[in-house]
Amino acid sequence: MSNCIFCKIVAKQIPSSVVYEDEEFLAFKDINPAAPVHFLIIPKQHVETLAQTTPEHAGMLGRMLALTPKLAQEQGCGLTQDIDGNVSGGYKTLINTGPDGGQEVYHLHLHVIGGPQPWRGQR
Ligand code: AMP
Ligand code: ZN
Repeated sequence: MSNCIFCKIVAKQIPSSVVYEDEEFLAFKDINPAAPVHFLIIPKQHVETLAQTTPEHAGMLGRMLALTPKLAQEQGCGLTQDIDGNVSGGYKTLINTGPDGGQEVYHLHLHVIGGPQPWRGQR
């Protein structure tokens, strides 16, 4: 897709802050982060939206989601447990689909958004 910004990132025609790459996926930091940790995982193959996926994409979608815990851990927002069993850390995983879903870039991507969220105050 010649006009797709994420395809250009995959092709290294546009710079990005890559956090992970393999044959099938690229993960890079969001340019406008919503939280201390915010990166996107994309398939290198151009798929416009989640709505365009079919059962044939099930493997790719599963592998994309399955990458998340490892990358979240590496980026500093994985779950941790103290000796009392209290769990901290964590992240949101989000796929926006279409205009009403708030999708701005029409190349499928999974947002991983984590780290301390100071605007939520002390809880
Ligand atoms: P969405 O609204 O789900 O389509 O989200 C698109 C995301 O891509 C937004 O969070 C943008 O900040 C992010 N984004 C757009 N252009 C770039 C870029 N060149 N590098 C990294 N992230 C980008
Ligand atoms: Zn694309």
